[in-house]
Amino acid sequence: MRQPLIAGNWKMNGSKAETVELLNGIKAGIGEVTASEVAVCPPFPYLYLAEDMLKGTAIRYGSQDCSREESGAFTGQVSAAMLQDFGCTYAILGHSERRLFNAETDAIIARKYAVVVSHGLTPILCVGETLEEREQGKTEEVVARHLDAVLESAGAEALAKGVIAYEPVWAIGTGVTATPEQAQEVHAFLRERIAKKSAEVAAGVRILYGGSMKPGNALELMAQADIDGGLIGGAALKAADFLAICKAG
Ligand code: PGA
Repeated sequence: MRQPLIAGNWKMNGSKAETVELLNGIKAGIGEVTASEVAVCPPFPYLYLAEDMLKGTAIRYGSQDCSREESGAFTGQVSAAMLQDFGCTYAILGHSERRLFNAETDAIIARKYAVVVSHGLTPILCVGETLEEREQGKTEEVVARHLDAVLESAGAEALAKGVIAYEPVWAIGTGVTATPEQAQEVHAFLRERIAKKSAEVAAGVRILYGGSMKPGNALELMAQADIDGGLIGGAALKAADFLAICKAG
């Protein structure tokens, strides 16, 4: 049985005060979430608030990225050891916005994956095609390439230490969600691809859906056989919406 994971990707949003308010809101309602594991990924400067405020709760937290370097002269970067120091459980890696705006390649993301795992953190590896790629019939080719970057370099055992998030780029922040059938098709494809290396890892690894998931569509998405939760952007910024999705998990 794969426990659903609902993770909030807050992106570059909020202030100190808004972070406190949002964390308090989630804490207040978390008692009603029974089945899902819940995590939030605030911006780096606010991780200390998550560490302080989520102590003693079941809510986990993580970062939205991580350096591929251990330490040293890498201005502006944040290491896996630092994230560990702040009690992070998760690190989102390879989000399409980082692939696009920070020129992250599959090779860079694979390296980050290995570093994050070596520090005992759980990577959330994002894969997903653009609208153009989908229209050209390249969805499977693209998500296979994103997955294989880690699967081939680190192996199935390393994948077992992470979580995968299928995030079609055309569904992120657009309000256009993949239909449950569209999402399930890609999730099943990813799981089958992992099964070729290890049936056991494929059966155990959680594959989240991300891209305009909200309270109104979360239930039918997560009812799909291979959808094990969600990576939530916009809807994670309102405690009530986020909690409603957590309850659907
Ligand atoms: P969205 O973002 O829920 O706002 O579409 C999801 C994500 O980018 O992780």
